[in-house]
Formats: sequence, structure tokens, C-alpha cells
Amino acid sequence: MKILENYDLKSLSYLKIGGVARYFVEIEKIEEWQKIIEIRDKERLPIIMVGEGSNTVFNDGFHNKIFVKIGSDEILKVYEDRDGVNINVAGGTNWDKLVEWAVKHKFSGLELLSGIPGTVGAAPVQNISAYGGSLFDTLTHIKVFDLKTEELYELNNQECEFGYRNSLVKKNPGRFAIISVSFRLSKDKPALPRYKDLALYFLKKRNKTPTIREIRQAVLDVRKEKLPDPRTEPNCGSFFLNPIVDIETAKSLAKKFGDMPQFPISLGEIKLSGGWLIEKSGFKGKDFGNLKVSPKNALIIIGNGRATFEDLVSLKKRIIDGVEKNFHVRLAPEVGFVE
Ligand SMILES: Cc1cc2nc3c(=O)[nH]c(=O)nc-3n(C[C@H](O)[C@H](O)[C@H](O)COP(=O)(O)OP(=O)(O)OC[C@H]3O[C@@H](n4cnc5c(N)ncnc54)[C@H](O)[C@@H]3O)c2cc1C
Repeated sequence: MKILENYDLKSLSYLKIGGVARYFVEIEKIEEWQKIIEIRDKERLPIIMVGEGSNTVFNDGFHNKIFVKIGSDEILKVYEDRDGVNINVAGGTNWDKLVEWAVKHKFSGLELLSGIPGTVGAAPVQNISAYGGSLFDTLTHIKVFDLKTEELYELNNQECEFGYRNSLVKKNPGRFAIISVSFRLSKDKPALPRYKDLALYFLKKRNKTPTIREIRQAVLDVRKEKLPDPRTEPNCGSFFLNPIVDIETAKSLAKKFGDMPQFPISLGEIKLSGGWLIEKSGFKGKDFGNLKVSPKNALIIIGNGRATFEDLVSLKKRIIDGVEKNFHVRLAPEVGFVE
């Protein structure tokens, strides 16, 4: 177990914003929790779980907290039959490393989620999804350490209460540490992706039966085109959630703004495009000093490494207020804030 003091959170955060952590701990084994709980109780400090920091921003100040990262990194086959395989993956494993592993072994189910940054342990928190695929399609259960009861147990897919960028873990901040995640992957040939960008990709290539590997490559190619690279342009992916409204609100918006994209997601719920709302409010590609709104995708805020947390909070407010003034729809951040 590594216990670091005065850890630089700015270097962790993909947006390159943040102060200093009192403790930063990497946990490899379950027994190590005992030591962390001792420090927590003795020094009365909150525990904050972190992965790679690709969806989190930290205040610039001193964080008198214990940041805990799952350090273990392992993919285990636990059962295999004619149709598929059950695997258990340690929470510290890099997400895309897992996808590459599955593709290499010709197991389908994760390929649409290629190229998403972060760890396996963080993936269930917001139920990562992209290009028509969602984590909950293949997740069977998660193993959690409950920081409230100090017990280790499993939660199955249903118990995780997955929704759009949401889960039981997200609804109970500070309660659960995800130790590992289990999946059921298939040996079936993958279906031709229906998501517009991917469907077009394969249409252009006249490929009606893409392999798992070809689907992964298509997703990586499309992502490269549509998203700024966080290695050269610090960003946390979509900064805002796509707002969800009821049918009545959606109808009245469609009447006023005929070209507004709307996607029914469940009975009575319509998802709007946050990127469209931000773009139509005049923010897309705009420069705000040390921060800018991506010209490729208006949902993304890009930093230059010199922005402060205050700069970010003020830009967030400006965008939320701008969209609300134009459309009477209030955006909420997707990115998590540790203040
Ligand atoms: C360029 C870019 C593109 C992206 N594209 C997508 C996309 O297509 N789809 C998508 O869904 N997301 C996307 N994201 C968001 C991000 O990749 C995911 O949210 C990812 O799961 C975050 O992983 P992380 O390890 O970096 O988590 P962090 O940012 O470190 O943490 C995220 C949240 O999870 C909690 N957490 C982390 N680890 C654990 C754990 N072991 N147990 C309990 N809680 C934990 C943290 O407390 C925090 O609340 C993108 C981000 C970037 C930068």
C-alpha cells in the first residue's frame, strides 16, 4: 500500500485543475482498508474515491481528506462456456486495457465503449456509455467495500440502479468503494452498430459484417475525429449532462425550435442534446482566457493548464445561465466536483 502526503491533485485531474491532498493512498489488497479506516477515524477525515481523474475536478486549495485509489490491476476469467465468458476485473485496471483484452480474445460486448478514459472501478459510477453501448449491458455485479458499515459485499446489475450517467454508487457519494467489476461477455459475432456515426462508417467501407476488432477501430477513429485529445488539450470529456425533460416540455421546445434534436429514452422522458443547446447559445469554440469551449464538441471545456478552479466555476455558471436564458432548460455538470 502506498500512502502519499501532500499529493498534487492537479497532475491527476485531466483538466489540470486542483490543489493538494493531505493523503493519497493506493490500495492493492482488501486487508489494507483497515489502516485507512484507522486514519479516517483517528484524524476524522473524509474518504474520497478516485480513479484516473478523467471525470473529476478538484478545488485549488488544500484538501484535508484521504483520496483512495484502487491500485490492483487484474483481469480474471472465472467461468467459460460455449456462448461466452464471465470475468472479474480489479477496480484499478485501465478501462480501455480491458476493452482491448476482450477484443483480442474475441469476446464481444465492450467494443462500443472503446477509448473511454479512466478505470474499471469508476466505470459503474456513472454507468459509462457511448455509441449505443452501455456498461450495464454486460455488467453482472460489482464488489464494494461499504465505507459506512465497513463490510465487503456484492451488488448485482439491478441493485446498482443504473440509469443515464447514474447509479446507486453515484447517488450515495462517499459510501462505496468499488473493488472489482464482473462482466458476462459473449462469443457471438457482434451486430452491425446502429449508432449513426458508426453505421455511416461501415456503409462507407461497404462492410455489413464488421468484426469486434473492426468495431473497436471504428469507435476509436470516430472518437479521434469528434473529441479533443486530453493529452494535448486538457479536458474531462463531456462537462455537462444531456438534459432530460418530460414530454410536455419537449413538445413545447420542439414547437419553438423546430430543429432541436430530441431523443426519447423512456416512457415520458426525452433527452435533449446539451451540445446543441450550448452551441445555439453561442458558446461553441469560444475562448475564455485559460479555458475554452471545444470547437469540435460544445459539451467539452478545454483548459490550458493555467486555469483556476474559480475560472471553471465561473465559466460553468455562465454556460448554465446562457442556456437557461435561451431555452428555459437548466444544464447540470457531468463532471464531479471535489470542493
Ligand atoms: C476525453 C474523454 C472522453 C470521455 N468519454 C466518455 C464517454 O464516451 N462516455 C462516458 O460515459 N464517459 C466518458 N468520459 C468520462 C470518463 O472517462 C468516465 O467517467 C470514467 O469512468 C472516469 O474514470 P476515472 O477513473 O478517471 O474516474 P475519476 O474521474 O477519478 O472518478 C469519477 C467518479 O468515480 C468515483 N470513483 C472512482 N473510482 C472509484 C471506485 N473504485 N469506487 C467508487 N467510486 C469511484 C469518484 O469518486 C468520482 O465520483 C470521458 C472523459 C474524457 C476525458
